[in-house]
Amino acid sequence: MRTSQGHKKEGVMTLRDTVIEIDLKALAHNMDAIRAMVGKEVAVMPVIKANAYGLGAVGVAPTLIAHGARYLAVATLSEAMELRTAYPDAPLFILGHTPDRLLPVVVKNSITQTIFTAAQAKALSDAAAGLGAKAKVHLKVDTGFHRLGTDNIEELFAICQTPNIDVEGIFSHLALANEEEDEKQFAMFQSIVKELEARGIRFKYKHITDSISAVDYPRFRLSMVRPGALVYGLRGSHKGYIDVKQAVTFKTRISQLHKVNTGEGVGYDYLWRAQRDSIIATLPFGYADGYPRNMRDKGYVTIHGIKCPLVGVLCMDQCMADVTDVPNVKEADEAIIYGTGENNTMDIAEAAALAGTNKNEIVARLMARPPRVYMS
Ligand SMILES: *Cc1c(COP(=O)(O)O)cnc(C)c1O
Repeated sequence: MRTSQGHKKEGVMTLRDTVIEIDLKALAHNMDAIRAMVGKEVAVMPVIKANAYGLGAVGVAPTLIAHGARYLAVATLSEAMELRTAYPDAPLFILGHTPDRLLPVVVKNSITQTIFTAAQAKALSDAAAGLGAKAKVHLKVDTGFHRLGTDNIEELFAICQTPNIDVEGIFSHLALANEEEDEKQFAMFQSIVKELEARGIRFKYKHITDSISAVDYPRFRLSMVRPGALVYGLRGSHKGYIDVKQAVTFKTRISQLHKVNTGEGVGYDYLWRAQRDSIIATLPFGYADGYPRNMRDKGYVTIHGIKCPLVGVLCMDQCMADVTDVPNVKEADEAIIYGTGENNTMDIAEAAALAGTNKNEIVARLMARPPRVYMS
């Protein structure tokens, strides 16, 4: 893939000890596993919204393309433009709504847009005419989620009749309420597609599955799947098994060690007090890096394979851990914040459980501040 601006490579100086390390081999493996699962007839559109679930969209894009991504899907035009600037030729898809006033930017940058009203189609058509181009779109059908889309056949048909618009695909999204509801949504989607096809419309791509449904409902894969979590090696609540590997590790190094005597406090309000003479490590990461502030008293980092509980209140940029039980602990020793679960590390699933959220939020909330380091 042609790039106008190189992304950070190994060997470039990393300006911080707290980093998000991305295993590009794991990412490639996951794409290959997804493609093997769905077979050659089904296109794969990895979802790389929210900065590729925290891994860095610009950093992961070339690997995904090299491993068969038909499109890179994002939520917003701003996300699409970050990728467009880096990769002038990458096939980009916006899953979300783009306001009419911004549609000329979409056309100008050859981005495939989700639409669901004839009025949007008209605005897009006008923008395309002004540029002497054709706007590529996928229709969004609301089959019950009630987020984006329409179930109005006449509206969908009117979009298809709009000049300067190339309707390449049609899609919907499952609420995953239960199997019966999923079947109902799928049946409704199929009947709308059938009705439009009966009127002579042809769709190259039809899609309705995210990660979970792509694994558990082979019938629903149609001609394209839209996995997000699975690409990054985050297994969901699917029943079926797919061999994917967590691609992200969040790590740092000890900035200082303190001897803290029994009874002394640590951090704001001295909310933690030493029950024994302790060694406390200061770590240079905090909630402004995207680590959940509510992990106090639950979170831990892993140093030399030993779990070290976080103590006291998590600060914006730093936190403290009790490392009393780590033999020969030294300043600058590595601390794993989120690992793969091996060697006593906290994986994303455990972090989600401890923070009371889901895995996607744990990674999506990782801020831009920690440098991304891509290992190939
Ligand atoms: C985010 C998103 C996906 C991917 O979801 P995962 O659960 O991470 O696989 C797929 N489709 C749409 C429309 C989305 O917004």
